[in-house]
Amino acid sequence: MMSKLGAILAQRIVRPSHKRHILNRSLLFAQKLSRVKVRGEHCCGGMKVVPSREEHLNALKGEEFDVLVIGGGAVGCGCAVDAACRGLKTALIEADDFASGSSSRSSKLIDGSGSYLGTALREKDIEQLYIMLQMMSERVTMLKNAPHLNRIQPMIIPIYSVLQMPCTWLGLKVYDFISAASNVRGSHLLSKEATLYEFPLLKTKGLRGGVVYYDGQVDDARMCIALVMTAVALGANVGNHMEVVELMPLEGCCRVVGVRDKISGEQFYIQAKSVINATGTSTDAIRQMDKEGTAPILVPTVGTHVSLPRYFGSGHYGLLSPAHKKDDLTIFMVPFENHTVLGIRETELDEVPGRGSPTPDPDDVDCLLEAAKAKMEPCVELGRCHVLSAWTGVKPNVSCPTGKSEEEEEKRGSPISSYVIEVSGDGLITLAGGRWSSYRVMAADAVDVAIKSCGLCDDHVTSSWTQDLKLDGAESWCCMLPLEFVQDYDVPMDVAQHISDSYGWNGHALFSDAPDLRKRLHPNFPYIEAEVQYAVRNEYACTLVDIIARRLRIAFVDAAASLHMLPKILKIMAEEKGWEEEQQQKQMLAAQEFLVRQMGLGTIVRPRGTSKSQPKKKASSEGCCCRAAARKEARSYSRAHPSIVVASKDKILEPLPIQRYKKNYFQPLATHRSSKNNMQPLATQRSSKNVRRTTDFLPFTSGITHKAVMDNDQSRSIATGGWSFGKRELIINAWRNKFMC
Ligand SMILES: Cc1cc2nc3c(=O)[nH]c(=O)nc-3n(C[C@H](O)[C@H](O)[C@H](O)COP(=O)(O)OP(=O)(O)OC[C@H]3O[C@@H](n4cnc5c(N)ncnc54)[C@H](O)[C@@H]3O)c2cc1C
Repeated sequence: MMSKLGAILAQRIVRPSHKRHILNRSLLFAQKLSRVKVRGEHCCGGMKVVPSREEHLNALKGEEFDVLVIGGGAVGCGCAVDAACRGLKTALIEADDFASGSSSRSSKLIDGSGSYLGTALREKDIEQLYIMLQMMSERVTMLKNAPHLNRIQPMIIPIYSVLQMPCTWLGLKVYDFISAASNVRGSHLLSKEATLYEFPLLKTKGLRGGVVYYDGQVDDARMCIALVMTAVALGANVGNHMEVVELMPLEGCCRVVGVRDKISGEQFYIQAKSVINATGTSTDAIRQMDKEGTAPILVPTVGTHVSLPRYFGSGHYGLLSPAHKKDDLTIFMVPFENHTVLGIRETELDEVPGRGSPTPDPDDVDCLLEAAKAKMEPCVELGRCHVLSAWTGVKPNVSCPTGKSEEEEEKRGSPISSYVIEVSGDGLITLAGGRWSSYRVMAADAVDVAIKSCGLCDDHVTSSWTQDLKLDGAESWCCMLPLEFVQDYDVPMDVAQHISDSYGWNGHALFSDAPDLRKRLHPNFPYIEAEVQYAVRNEYACTLVDIIARRLRIAFVDAAASLHMLPKILKIMAEEKGWEEEQQQKQMLAAQEFLVRQMGLGTIVRPRGTSKSQPKKKASSEGCCCRAAARKEARSYSRAHPSIVVASKDKILEPLPIQRYKKNYFQPLATHRSSKNNMQPLATQRSSKNVRRTTDFLPFTSGITHKAVMDNDQSRSIATGGWSFGKRELIINAWRNKFMC
């Protein structure tokens, strides 16, 4: 088994063209730079200038391309980046907005997929092991290429039986061992107290502790936008809201593709030597457009997620709670945009739905909430009234990608989620299946096939080198960037952190382009007005929905809050785009319809202001006792571990968990006392000897603590050693909001 694995890996790692690829890289860099220069002005001073949508359309109409990619999801954008950085003349067409398909509706986990390991060991299937290794290696690549959009996500598996603890631990250690080279961090055990400390709402009865393993997390839609902008910077021509409506038969060495611009209604043709079909759930529709009667290859499943307030989860850790019984559901909770994403209820589909994502089913949401509630303490209330947003995505799985018979696949139990590349008689290259964590490899393989099958080789064309390509915004990014933003632009810390996490280094262009647009779009969220202007000018946002769903992500976090933000966003967009009254109304209606149809507003999520405030149920005495016990255990754990606590004048509140960082990584946080305010936030840290002392460090990039720092506009101040920015600071302890009696 091992020798077969070795052979596969050797074949993959030592590519025949590897040497040439290194030699060509310097040449391509020069070419890339000259292209950007010729296209001109991608960066002038602090300002960022990208070609307008009209310029792209003109190029699409008039020029002949080497590669035309259909579909602006993860896979399509990956193909565009790969082809463009090899020096091929590339075009990308997307029917709706970039990432409007499954690519913005994923669980946002770049998982190493331990399930593949289970199947590999059970079935002695080397291919499964290879897929797992490839995904793990890709996770490292994503973390490296776009560090602002991807992060390491620790996940806790709570353990409820004595036997389960060593078994899970051993399984994860095997996983760590096999993936040693590409594993982000090793798994480890967690005591019961530490597990409850992170997830205080978890069922305590029978809890033995937890096992922590490390996954990756991606802001999927923003990652897609970063890919598009990288492709543009490399010279690709892109067009969103442009649907492919016709595929002409091959003529000579060119294919002519009919597209319709959904914004202007104009229809025109694009010529390309090779066409890649990366349309996710529309894969079969395009294959049938190429050749009528082609047998479908998609086996789609739908998955439903909901967004909950952050107190249901942990600000830093994710939770994976496997199903224990047959009718039980495996659920996970991951922190996302300062909220908790709960997933996933998956159901199989008999047929591929039409274009556009399906409406979240209230029954699926109830099922998901029930499953999550079952994993929590009996006194915890969790219902539809807590859901802030709900969405459903269709996974474009493909049938039998290994070429194995259906019976063999069924015997295996879980179909492998790999991908297929198919070349049709007329040269249409179909790339389907896979996951976010395999988009780059899929793209590299598809462009390899395009080069070979369509004879695109010339002196400039290299092999793929996207493995080392920093995506748009990642160049010069570092974890201190939020502090730079705070200092340079005088913005609150949570806004600075959000801009750094979403735009990376481009945050400088965003702030300097719009000095007058620093106001928040909603008082409870770090999204600011300048983002709308930036999205319209630099990220090809064409509609209100593009902004709330793919540029700001607010629709996925809180549908009702996005409804409130719409008028402000519309005002800025209308100014930028010169929309008349009638057009503004159309946009508003479309955005409201999107929130209702696709984010569950009105059906699952209650619009704010209309919900009747129900009298708060007092927890039963039984519930009180169990919470008190859990709280006591968590406290004793916090005493044994250094942590920051937030103290008010009268009482010490719950502890804030902190992560340890290398010495000198951050300067210590100095805290302030406000004479005006009764609440006097005071950050203290307990030393190992249990002696409390004032002032300690607050790791801004820990993913929990920086989010716990809520600056309000009047009393904003962060003081960190040499970084002093005002008078007062509010440290809001997330734990105070938990369901503790
Ligand atoms: C619920 C769910 C959870 C998931 N969780 C994870 C996860 O945790 N980790 C992970 O790695 N992966 C995950 N995935 C898988 C991952 O999201 C998908 O595999 C990936 O996004 C697929 O990308 P794609 O580009 O193939 O498809 P899509 O993102 O659907 O893109 C296809 C695009 O093609 C466009 N298109 C269609 N027809 C046309 C046309 N005629 N002309 C032009 N354009 C057209 C569509 O508008 C669409 O934008 C999840 C998926 C789902 C649904």
